[in-house]
Amino acid sequence: MGGFAASTFKRGIDFINIPTTLLGQVDASAGGKTGINFNGLKNEIGVINQAKHVIVDANFLKTLDNKEFISGFAEMLKHAVISDKKYFNRLSGYDTSEINVDYEVLNSLIEKSIIIKYNIVEQDPYEKGIRKALNFGHTFGHAFESFFSEQGNYLKHGEAVAQGMICELFLSNKKQGFPVMELLELTGKIMEKYEKININHDDFENIINLMSHDKKNSAGQINCTLISEVGKPVIDRIVEKKEINEALNYYLQIFM
Ligand SMILES: [Zn+2]
Repeated sequence: MGGFAASTFKRGIDFINIPTTLLGQVDASAGGKTGINFNGLKNEIGVINQAKHVIVDANFLKTLDNKEFISGFAEMLKHAVISDKKYFNRLSGYDTSEINVDYEVLNSLIEKSIIIKYNIVEQDPYEKGIRKALNFGHTFGHAFESFFSEQGNYLKHGEAVAQGMICELFLSNKKQGFPVMELLELTGKIMEKYEKININHDDFENIINLMSHDKKNSAGQINCTLISEVGKPVIDRIVEKKEINEALNYYLQIFM
């Protein structure tokens, strides 16, 4: 919101970002997206404009509650899934529980995530192509987020994205040949850190409707970013309702 205000005040003045949440540090503050929600739609009014500087320090996170912390951590897992298996293993081995957060190590992980994001944004600041890789997990994730907020039962953005990644990993296996063993491995590692959300078959239609209304999708078609292997994103994949159902069914049967 600050970035948007600065970008429009007197036709634009410089601004710096000093994010104090993990989600802000690894995601929102980097990449130049600014804006506000309007008429019930997310980021409906805004501009793309880069901050002059972004100042990040994991020490700012010492007073952040754990739920907010693991919400931001999901975006870091996403960075790893679209770019680097070794980084994914480092993250999944990192203890995110309240008592054990190691801020020294965290600083280096945050740096890695920011570098991954900047490398992608630099190639495609206006999201015509490769920047869409950063939407991995978000087609399902946004739908889960809206689904629970409509019930007054808020799910943090990153928590929703983590669950969305599981569904999109399933579709990656089904449509892009992402190996099944890795699907099971990554599902297990993500679910070690995130609580399973409470949905059932009766909710599927509602969730699919929310996906078709997402502004990233057009003409009733639902788009996903998938991967063919860890580090190899495939953008603009159209998914059928039947496939979404299968992905949600896969999600339901985890650990049952
Ligand atoms: Zn996100």
